[in-house]
Amino acid sequence: MIFNSIRWRVQAWHGLILVVVLSGFGVTTYKFAEDNQIRSIDQELERQSEDLLRPRPEDGPPPGPPPDPSQFRDRARRLVEGGAVAGGAVYFVLWQRDGRLLAHSPGTPPDVPVPGLQGGGRGPRDAWEGRTRGDVREVLRRAPEGDTLLAGRSIVEDRAAMRRLALWFVAAGAGILLLGLAGGSWLASRAIRPIDEISATAQRIAAGDLSQRIDVADTESELGRLAAVLNSTFARLEAAFLQQARFTADASHELRTPVAVILSQTQSTLAREREAPEYREALEACQRAAQRMRKLTEALLELARLDAGQEPMQQERFDLGRVVRECAELVRPLATECGVVIDCNLAATECLGDSRHISQLATNLVSNAIHHNRPGGQVHLSTHREGDSAILTVADTGYGIEAEHIPHIFERFYRVDSSRSGGPGHSGLGLAICKAIAEAHGGAISVSSQPGSGSSFRVRLAAAPKV
Ligand code: ADP
Repeated sequence: MIFNSIRWRVQAWHGLILVVVLSGFGVTTYKFAEDNQIRSIDQELERQSEDLLRPRPEDGPPPGPPPDPSQFRDRARRLVEGGAVAGGAVYFVLWQRDGRLLAHSPGTPPDVPVPGLQGGGRGPRDAWEGRTRGDVREVLRRAPEGDTLLAGRSIVEDRAAMRRLALWFVAAGAGILLLGLAGGSWLASRAIRPIDEISATAQRIAAGDLSQRIDVADTESELGRLAAVLNSTFARLEAAFLQQARFTADASHELRTPVAVILSQTQSTLAREREAPEYREALEACQRAAQRMRKLTEALLELARLDAGQEPMQQERFDLGRVVRECAELVRPLATECGVVIDCNLAATECLGDSRHISQLATNLVSNAIHHNRPGGQVHLSTHREGDSAILTVADTGYGIEAEHIPHIFERFYRVDSSRSGGPGHSGLGLAICKAIAEAHGGAISVSSQPGSGSSFRVRLAAAPKV
């Protein structure tokens, strides 16, 4: 719906503000001009009336104080009737105090009201007063002897000029409004364009093309920054989808092998009658394949639950040193079998977390250190506290990991060299599970390795607060 679009709303508000500002400005200016015009008409009328009242040389020498009112009245009547000052356009009327008409100039409209009604019925004051009656403007004031003098003229032409001014204002206002709207529309479309681009890209991504990115031209603007954030989100999304796809492919590939073993064993065994030992042998092979599948599915399930945050994690206080010692005891027979010595330097390190999962993490690391070691090699286990962290280090004297593999070592199904990776039981999920467990505890795992002389895995967990 067009009325819901941001662009339309910005335009509408912009237009409304422009109309309010322009009409406010126009009306005020028009009022000001109108008042000015009336004031200048009044001044003109007052000036002409003052001229009329001012004594002239032809009136003879001024009578001197006290002024002779009758002299003024005679002169005024003469001048008013002659319209001498008016020059035709202005008319004058002279009334006596009691409202009797004394004189009026030619061209005076017939219906000029008696000024006694002015000023609330008290008659005109000494100052000039103005009034508008239809198409005429009049000013009046008290003259000597309590007479009242009125001067007036038609304002038809002035009104026409004001109408022309009003029309001009309307035309100019409409022009400015149109220009403003056009400018506003251009600005709004410029400002909105990146949003259109963002939504178009998001739509293409939603349609399945995860490689799409927003073209960020102006990285400093707010929308540019938003686009940059969205681009990095899209990149992470794409990486996550790719990883997911690879994970599914790897998982099915891993599962296919034991399934193939079971199928081929059963098919070849059932092809003809066999002796009991042969059946036993085939069943044992099937059992090994099934165990491998079970290990794999359990690892996958655990990873999925850790990913989804569904794996229940206890928040218990436990001694990391004790947990690691138990793991070491658990795998010691394997170490003896491989000719590897486990050497412990396990300080009591109080830790917060789920001891069962941490035990699984430690067991994975120690088993790896044994598996990827050399006969007569060593595994060093140590725990200690570092500030707010509890640190577990599992170091071995094995063949180490080449630098190119280090960034991938914690990826799922990543195996450095399958010939050295412990054979079929090792699917490359052990370190991925270690990483997921460490991260689920708010910790981290890292590795440093010297190819040919050994590797050292370091796990950082939250230490329990000291009591
Ligand atoms: P797996 O469960 O197959 O052992 P991991 O995820 O535990 O898989 O390990 C991934 C890869 O990392 C292994 O294939 C191995 O090559 C390498 N690796 C792990 N631990 C060590 C180690 N201590 N020394 C050398 N290589 C190691």
